[in-house]
Amino acid sequence: RQGKAQTFLARPALTKAGTAVRVQVNIADPSDVDAIDIATCDGVGLMRTEFLFGKTLPDEETQYRAYRKVLEWAGDKPVTIRTVDAGGDKPVPGFTVEEGNPFLGLRGIRLSLARLDIFRVQIRALLRAAPHGNLRVMFPMIATAEEYERAAGLFADEQAALTARGTAQRMPPLGIMVEVPSVAIAPEALAGAAFFSIGSNDLTQYVMAAARDNAAVAHLNSVRHPAVLRLIGSVTAFGRDNGIPVSLCGDAGGDPASIPALLEAGLRDLSVPPAQLAMAKAAIADISV
Ligand code: PEP
Ligand code: MG
Repeated sequence: RQGKAQTFLARPALTKAGTAVRVQVNIADPSDVDAIDIATCDGVGLMRTEFLFGKTLPDEETQYRAYRKVLEWAGDKPVTIRTVDAGGDKPVPGFTVEEGNPFLGLRGIRLSLARLDIFRVQIRALLRAAPHGNLRVMFPMIATAEEYERAAGLFADEQAALTARGTAQRMPPLGIMVEVPSVAIAPEALAGAAFFSIGSNDLTQYVMAAARDNAAVAHLNSVRHPAVLRLIGSVTAFGRDNGIPVSLCGDAGGDPASIPALLEAGLRDLSVPPAQLAMAKAAIADISV
């Protein structure tokens, strides 16, 4: 199956009926792109930046070089870089805190807004990298409009500081992950965001109350449960009605068994693990939407 799927890699993704679907890739380490031909995808739908936050916290220059490398590789194609999503299943020494219920605790944007010393370094690196490609930035684990506004305000502050110093920079479009049920259920509060990217890994675990890393409840953790699909459908409809682009970057986007249901829910824009790219395009070609 994988061998046959390879033939779809070089072509744009189209359903049997000719509906175009954008297929981007999810990456982490910038060296991930060395093994990917940019012609085979529509850009980077999710660059996870947690990999940079290992034993020591990365400085601005290290981050700038990592982001710039991926932007230059992608050329004109969009690259969506997510601000650090530490906490939950991704502990970072010196940054995340010990807590009893980490998936419901200080993770993602909550932690970044609690540690502005660390967050501002990443923001400056992103603003400086932006002129080198087609950058979009998104915030993880947004639950309220206030979080989005505070984060966007910090981008504006840092842009002003860089301008005052005469440093080259650009403000990228700022969007959000839709992965907390509060935002998926009441997205109107976040209508000011430039784009929505549905994080089906977290959205599914929070809707089903079944941890994504617990095999004992894996049978409950399905994006194809009607409750999750209905919620995704309502988010894509909201985006369509309000001119907000909606994509999906959870692992379900690369799962041939889930792709038909995701297109049915209105999605036309998926971001998948590179290893799933050929399979996802082959699965799309098999659908008569
Ligand atoms: C998600 O939650 O679906 C997602 C893409 O983000 P992560 O898996 O990094 O939490
Ligand atoms: Mg997530």
